[in-house]
Amino acid sequence: MPYCQSHCPLHNHIPDWLRLTAEGRLREAYDLSARTSTMPEICGRICPQDRLCEGNCVIEFSGHGAVTIGSVEKYLGDNAWKEGWVRPIEPGPATGQSVGIIGAGPAGLTAAEYLRRAGHEVHVYDRHDRAGGLLIYGIPNFKLDKSVVDRRVARIEEGGIHIHRGVEVGADVTLSELRERHDAIFVATGVYQSRELTVDGADKNGVIRAIDFLTASNRSGLGDEVAAHADGSLLAKDRNVVVIGGGDTAMDCVRTAVRQGAASVKCLYRRDRENMPGSRTEVAHAEEEGVEFLWLSGPASIEGGERAEKVQANRMQLGEPDADGRRRPVVDPSSSFALDADLVILALGFEPEPLPAIFGETGLNVDQWGTLECDENMMTSLPGVFAGGDIARGASLVVWAVRDGRDVAEHIETYLAAERKPSAAAA
Ligand code: FAD
Ligand code: SF4
Repeated sequence: MPYCQSHCPLHNHIPDWLRLTAEGRLREAYDLSARTSTMPEICGRICPQDRLCEGNCVIEFSGHGAVTIGSVEKYLGDNAWKEGWVRPIEPGPATGQSVGIIGAGPAGLTAAEYLRRAGHEVHVYDRHDRAGGLLIYGIPNFKLDKSVVDRRVARIEEGGIHIHRGVEVGADVTLSELRERHDAIFVATGVYQSRELTVDGADKNGVIRAIDFLTASNRSGLGDEVAAHADGSLLAKDRNVVVIGGGDTAMDCVRTAVRQGAASVKCLYRRDRENMPGSRTEVAHAEEEGVEFLWLSGPASIEGGERAEKVQANRMQLGEPDADGRRRPVVDPSSSFALDADLVILALGFEPEPLPAIFGETGLNVDQWGTLECDENMMTSLPGVFAGGDIARGASLVVWAVRDGRDVAEHIETYLAAERKPSAAAA
């Protein structure tokens, strides 16, 4: 298997569709790309290719620069939509069984598509007013135009999948009610609890969470009235913005702040450039757009009155490796500095919300990180309840959520086929 293909979580048939594309056989190339992915033009846009397929391209290894696999995949998908080659979902013969899916993100929507094709009735429940999960309310519009997500969602609904928007499991309906309603359940609720900053002043006005900032920005881009933009509380315009964190979410925040017309945008990260978790490409884009990175710098306190005015920061040094093998940042006591900041955005990562408490199901086991515990068939501790995407693997990537949706559909199908047998025998 070529390295690009083995490093693509979906094991897309990359060399084959690249060859078909080079030969001008675009429809066949798209069909092949769609065979392994429910969202090829979405992954083509937002996968961190430098860490996946393109980072493992043999041409890259030989020093000639990788084949631009993601761009080709995006082009194939967009072109297929334009030409009308994206086929509707064709449901298989009805099984008489139904599956409830909690979460309309990439994991939930992918599973829904495969399960519908297998002939099941599929209901997706999401607490948001729009389907798409972080594709809609997390990832900024300049990376992923929302119309690209909406047309996939429309195709899913046209295929007979029922999406119930504005339904929060745990508040509007319980998990046990859904288990009675459906023959199997897939939990794909993602991870949304932001890690908090624990320094003095972190509770001042103007210290906000990345997910709130990005959701407000995406809502505004979608044409919603956003009160927090009207009152300025989640808007970077004319502000001195400091984003704390070094992952992809931090990169999305700095680049969104630039687009909102911030007076200045700085990113504070406690490790160095080589040890940051975010994509190198994203950092390069942010620097081109005028973002200033302060490497080896960590917040000591947020200063000001009721509202944040400055971030007092420490210089850091890299110490001994931690349990993950990454060198642990330690405060360099010899130097500290202050940054003007009237909007401080915390992008320190995400953890699962407190499951099983919010579902009211004590039998649903979680591991030490709060993610759902699953067996080798992706089934949780509750029979017939499966899990995948970020809520099972921790904050990850869209392409891994799509992979989980594809895999779980197979496991659910096996489970439902076994459940079907007794009634078939009785008939
Ligand atoms: P989600 O996409 O989070 O969807 C979960 C859904 O479940 C949501 O719609 C939510 O409303 C719903 N839900 C949650 N709880 C309930 C409940 N109790 N009842 C009903 N519904 C519920 N990955 C990339 O590959 N490339 C990127 O560029 C990228 N950028 C990102 C930028 C940001 C700001 C963030 C936060 C993440 C980014 N990611 C990126 C990661 C990627 O978005 C996630 O890994 C992926 O969306 C996970 O998919 P999921 O289906 O598991 O969950
Ligand atoms: Fe590369 Fe992502 Fe497409 Fe796989 S899904 S080929 S990793 S861009």
